[in-house]
Amino acid sequence: MPDPLSPAELRTLDRAHVWHPYGPMPGRQEPLIVESASGVRLRLAEPAHGQHELIDGMSSWWSAVHGYNHPVLNEAARGQLDRMSHVMFGGLTHEPAVRLAARLVEITPEPLRHVFLADSGSVSVEVAVKMCLQYWHSTGRPAKKRLLTWRGGYHGDTWQPMSVCDPEGGMHGLWSGALPQQVFADEPPGGFDAQPDEAYVQHLWDLIARHADELAAVIVEPVVQGAGGMRFHSPAYLRALREACDAHDVLLVFDEIASGFGRTGKLFAAGHAGISPDVMCVGKALTGGYLTLAATLCTSRVADGISRGEVPVLAHGPTFMGNPLAAAVALASIDLLLGQDWQQEVKRLETGLRDGLAGARSIAGVRDVRVLGAIGVVQLDHDVNMAAATEAAVREGVWLRPFRDLIYTMPPYVTGDDDLARICRAVCAAAREG
Ligand code: PLP
Repeated sequence: MPDPLSPAELRTLDRAHVWHPYGPMPGRQEPLIVESASGVRLRLAEPAHGQHELIDGMSSWWSAVHGYNHPVLNEAARGQLDRMSHVMFGGLTHEPAVRLAARLVEITPEPLRHVFLADSGSVSVEVAVKMCLQYWHSTGRPAKKRLLTWRGGYHGDTWQPMSVCDPEGGMHGLWSGALPQQVFADEPPGGFDAQPDEAYVQHLWDLIARHADELAAVIVEPVVQGAGGMRFHSPAYLRALREACDAHDVLLVFDEIASGFGRTGKLFAAGHAGISPDVMCVGKALTGGYLTLAATLCTSRVADGISRGEVPVLAHGPTFMGNPLAAAVALASIDLLLGQDWQQEVKRLETGLRDGLAGARSIAGVRDVRVLGAIGVVQLDHDVNMAAATEAAVREGVWLRPFRDLIYTMPPYVTGDDDLARICRAVCAAAREG
């Protein structure tokens, strides 16, 4: 092992050479240096605003649902590491990937049956889109190659997923002219519990009917639209999409990369609507945030359709497909989640977030406070001052990553009540200071 770098050396090298998510280059940001992480806490290499440790209110962007340095996940990784950390997946297979695929089919809605193991959420969306376009190409309707989504969505940062992110006000507006042109429905109105708006349902039906001949699929984030605005919507709209897609021969894709594995109170958000998509993407919490892995699941109809085509293979095969280390940890993470009363834990967090964030409503500049499952959101009536809001949270001993007009938290499911109350205080402080 090389000698460890001092925090000052690390910072200098980071600034000189390292890109960060949505970061400028050369580095004009001052990321905090994390030395280690355990439970719900990030240990800093040097104190920030008097804090040596921060409670992670973000679960490392939806993923670390069991917290960090978990003995069960460590053991799964170590055990697999001693056997085989990676092997190519073309022409070869192995137990972790096979068992994971079978497990995913078991726990996701019927009739999803076939699993493509990709290496990131964005790639799993690429694969989902490729499956849909290839399905129509293979079944004699090659004109069906556009996608419909609703505004305010977010599906990742690679090219095709960027095309179904909202081009107006979204993160990828810069490229909207260069991306494949998709069909956009209005954003779903109301919150999770709101009565479904019949005019909006009609709007969805009309758009799908009008574009049916060119639409390969509708792709949406079910129930919670994440990085596009942290909005919740009624499951009734998902049912409407299912019906309209069936009526007009369009495939339905659910991007459950953020919502999957219990975050909204159901194991998968599709469960709120009691329906199944034709294709579904999962990622993030799939490995409990340990390793980079995502999956695209599809029905036999889609897989068989592709297999009937003139090119009867799904032309996708990344080097790290089905990585055994990540698959072994994913299996352990799923067993860990389902082996406990996770619904009770998410309910407990939901109640704690509702109580703890209620006071935010009276903070000047707060437009809305909303909670669903283990997700708490405070929306401001202005763009947040990110530096000031982050600093306010860090002073409270909590890590948050506000963006646009949003201060939000999705804590690990293992967050205790006292730590959750502290996260809520930090969200409120960030709302006041930001
Ligand atoms: N889809 C959704 C709903 C997401 O929230 C994200 C990431 O935030 C992605 C796709 C992209 O996943 P990844 O960052 O692993 O590429």
